[in-house]
Amino acid sequence: MGAGVQSSAVLLLACEGVIPRFDVALFADTGWEPRAVYANLARLRAHAAKFGIPVRTVSAGNIRDDALDPAHRFVSMPLHVLNPDGSRGLARRQCTSEYKISPLKKAARELLGYPHPRRVPRGVYVEQAIGISTDEFTRAKDSGVKYLRNVFPLIDLGWDRTRCADYLAERGFGETVKSACIGCPFHGNAGWRWIRDNDLDGWAQAVEFDKAIRDGYPHATKQGQELRGKYFLHRSCRPLDEVDLDLPAPGKRHLRLASAKAVEEDDPDGCSPWSCRSGAAVTEERAA
Ligand code: SF4
Repeated sequence: MGAGVQSSAVLLLACEGVIPRFDVALFADTGWEPRAVYANLARLRAHAAKFGIPVRTVSAGNIRDDALDPAHRFVSMPLHVLNPDGSRGLARRQCTSEYKISPLKKAARELLGYPHPRRVPRGVYVEQAIGISTDEFTRAKDSGVKYLRNVFPLIDLGWDRTRCADYLAERGFGETVKSACIGCPFHGNAGWRWIRDNDLDGWAQAVEFDKAIRDGYPHATKQGQELRGKYFLHRSCRPLDEVDLDLPAPGKRHLRLASAKAVEEDDPDGCSPWSCRSGAAVTEERAA
């Protein structure tokens, strides 16, 4: 669970017995979520504990610290790239796999009693409930490994995101915000505005990070990898603190997203480990 709207709703539904109870809920922490997400996580953890559902945090490190650490292995975030010839691109996205999928798989194996490198016997598996709502059903995907079977309770219930938000509000969790790294390059202007206006420290970190990665990751540079072009967190390929976030993002006409509103309003669902729409949605069509 990411502690955003849909996964919070799924956890509460399990607490109430509307869907089967969970043995455990897992939060994959990239270490760089907005303060409001961690606050919601703490509330969810306390709430679920009353129903005997432990909420565990799993982590592969701090994505921000790791990215800026010249000594850390290079893990690519989907940074926006301005190439020397003026064309634009998107760096590879390895972060979701590294910081979310890997620690979740590791935890699942441990829960089953077959930690890596032990082979998980055929027929032994974890059933993993994922908060995908009906308005985003195309994100419902298999896990890709036999020991993890994904199920989608919100789709089974016919709940869309609005229904989830209403349900959370009814249960006193109306302040739930979307979950995604503070410095996620997939934020639209609305996402950046939210951080700027609601998480001052997070905004300062994002601006600082944006400047720090202008010529690529320190580790890659240190290894002598030739990094061409300039790297940015904002899709306009401009310094984050110079973008007018109150305007629709430039270049949106060229992005294959559901609608212009989706670009402006961001991916409202955050970065789901198993079906991160962000990565699939932004295919390279941008002109210089
Ligand atoms: S939220 Fe963005 S930066 Fe964070 S893991 Fe997902 S895609 Fe990567």
